[in-house]
Amino acid sequence: MKNFVNLNVNPCNMCMPMGAAGVFKGIEGTMVLMHGSQGCSTYIRRHIATHYNEPIDIASSSLNEKGTVYGGSENLKKALKNVIKLYGPKVIGVTTTCLAETIGEDIRRIIDEFFLEEKIVGVECVAVSSPGYGGSHYRGHYYTARKVLEHFAKTGGKSDKINVIVGCMSPGDIRHLKEILDLYELEYTLFPDISETLDGGYHREYDRLPEGGTPVAELKAMGKARATIEFGAMVSEADSPGEYLKAAFGVPLYRLPLPVGIEHTDQLMETLTILSGRDMPEKLEKERARFLDAMIDSHKYSAEGHLSVFGDPESVYAITALGLENGFKMCVAGSGPASEKLIPALKALETEYGTVFIKLEDTDFETIAGHVTETGTDLLVGSSDGAFMTEKYGIPLIRTGFPVHDRIGAQRKIMIGYFGSMQLLDEMTNTVLAEKHDHFRKHLFTEYGQAKEG
Ligand code: SF4
Repeated sequence: MKNFVNLNVNPCNMCMPMGAAGVFKGIEGTMVLMHGSQGCSTYIRRHIATHYNEPIDIASSSLNEKGTVYGGSENLKKALKNVIKLYGPKVIGVTTTCLAETIGEDIRRIIDEFFLEEKIVGVECVAVSSPGYGGSHYRGHYYTARKVLEHFAKTGGKSDKINVIVGCMSPGDIRHLKEILDLYELEYTLFPDISETLDGGYHREYDRLPEGGTPVAELKAMGKARATIEFGAMVSEADSPGEYLKAAFGVPLYRLPLPVGIEHTDQLMETLTILSGRDMPEKLEKERARFLDAMIDSHKYSAEGHLSVFGDPESVYAITALGLENGFKMCVAGSGPASEKLIPALKALETEYGTVFIKLEDTDFETIAGHVTETGTDLLVGSSDGAFMTEKYGIPLIRTGFPVHDRIGAQRKIMIGYFGSMQLLDEMTNTVLAEKHDHFRKHLFTEYGQAKEG
């Protein structure tokens, strides 16, 4: 009998085109078009809309039985025509889904054919092969960002700017990151920039293509930058957009972990000092000192917390490091998306902090929940898809990462830098304290009352 070693039950990640859509939402004037069955774009639209609390437009080529058997070229061309007519985009990001890839659609050929037939000018079209089975939303994010740069960044040269390539960060995190970069007085291109497109303000008129996003002209110039900072320490070389710029144009690359916790944030600041020639600005010095103070305030309580973290590899690694820096007892660090770099990085943390915990990659919620209960976890940090562990086992969950459907404000949440790390640490420690105080009498009774009665 076949042994299904890789069978996932309730996977702890979203599918690849979800990540692709997120990247296209971070490019100025871009519309996303999914080539495949309609349900994929509905599923993805629904997840993005409830996480960011914004109306989300994603078009679909709506492949039906005929298109599946005879090829979907007609559907895709019709969809491209409608998107151009209805949205007037500068860029169309065409992504594939499982169905289109399974029938072997050559989307680049279909798109080029359409542009020739219809004599379309003034619209760029980026094609990304992103079947759901090709990887997680995490892989979809970096792979798509790389494909976008391969499409636009075609020349090298010299510029004073640096590139800043972000992973699955919230719009709030990206706005905070921009403030940090501005304090160092650096000129930069940030990509993909969802800080406005997926967290805009209220407008009377609905804007189908919200303002913001990385301008195409800046994407085209990214090969000329004097350096790239990429927040993607766990991503493979083959999927890394920064590795493409380095290999194609010799742009020096600084691959950094998500700046969460003191050590990772210090790493970012040291890199910014190298690139700007400036010491840490006073405002950030003060934020660092305040964060250190918060760590001292927290440590006598956080040491009582038994922490399990789940999500994408970058956030799992970063939040695990924050937990260990602050004395939490690590129980489980589990990534839904696969990452060859995550387990060695977590092992290095075990050695650094003299501890041992359960490390998982390419895992599912069934496996995570099993380890969470057997290790006595009393604090969970991860997406709202893990909320069933609160319902089933009563373990509180701090919602971070993607997706967060059952709370508002995920798009504004800041967990990077000294300021964001402090916010997250406070939330973690307060959750441990709330658990302790809320169940203080019950625990006393269980531990001592029953023993006495017995
Ligand atoms: S896994 Fe495949 S079929 Fe399911 S939503 Fe994703 S792309 Fe569509």
